[in-house]
Amino acid sequence: MALAIAVVFGVVIGSFLNVVIRRLPEGNSIIRPRSHCPNCKRLIRWYDNVPILSYFLLGGRCRQCNRKISIRYPLVEALSGIVGLLMYDKFGLGIEWVIFFSFSAALIVLAFIDLDHRILPDPITLNGIWVGILASVYLAQPSSLAVRLLRTIGLETTNSRVIALTASLLGVFIGGGLLWGVGEAYFRLRGIEGMGFGDVKMMAMVGALLGAPLALLTILIGSLLGVVIGLLYIRVAGKSRQYELPFGTFLAAAGIVVVLYGDEFINWYIDRIIQPSL
Ligand SMILES: [Zn+2]
Repeated sequence: MALAIAVVFGVVIGSFLNVVIRRLPEGNSIIRPRSHCPNCKRLIRWYDNVPILSYFLLGGRCRQCNRKISIRYPLVEALSGIVGLLMYDKFGLGIEWVIFFSFSAALIVLAFIDLDHRILPDPITLNGIWVGILASVYLAQPSSLAVRLLRTIGLETTNSRVIALTASLLGVFIGGGLLWGVGEAYFRLRGIEGMGFGDVKMMAMVGALLGAPLALLTILIGSLLGVVIGLLYIRVAGKSRQYELPFGTFLAAAGIVVVLYGDEFINWYIDRIIQPSL
């Protein structure tokens, strides 16, 4: 039952994410007006607006003008549902699920807006930073990697919220700072702007909630994805080498993977790779 709630809620939120992805970059309200067909402008009836299902019942076309509807709408809804499911698998259905699912939802929105427009809007990244700080202080997870690292290097205080706040602020500055450094290095090497300041703010947001170690892992995985998929795409699609890749899209995908598997990966890495060699 809880599993079904997580998935259905994920899919329904996915439907809302589609609206945000389309309207936020255009500066339109994300609440009003109600959804309408981008071609014939007529309102979409509520029974044609059921996530995923309606797309297939309508055969992927607008009921009124028969114009094709992008397959991306049901895909974003399905993706959001799958993320809801995986988060349930990791966190159960409680406040942690709400926090980490919301974080992932924000990353999904950023990923697709960056893909479409090569921008990462401030209303999401900047608000994400302070919401991320508040959320990590609220959660004050003693098992968090950033918190454990701070204890290892000798930050001793009995107040777990003080440690969580320190870990979160370090995450903001190290997450954002590292990416800024990567961008600078790239700019010096290739002489073209590899990323905008939006990516830096987005990584500050990731660091705020996940802490510095997992923000670093996100940058590593995101860069790897960017290099492999990006260069493959440039090859296959015959784009120029100057083609601007949506780096934020790769970072966002990496961020969601890291929420789900980052802790386990780093623990495994320490146990199997680092410790045996000491
Ligand atoms: Zn239409």
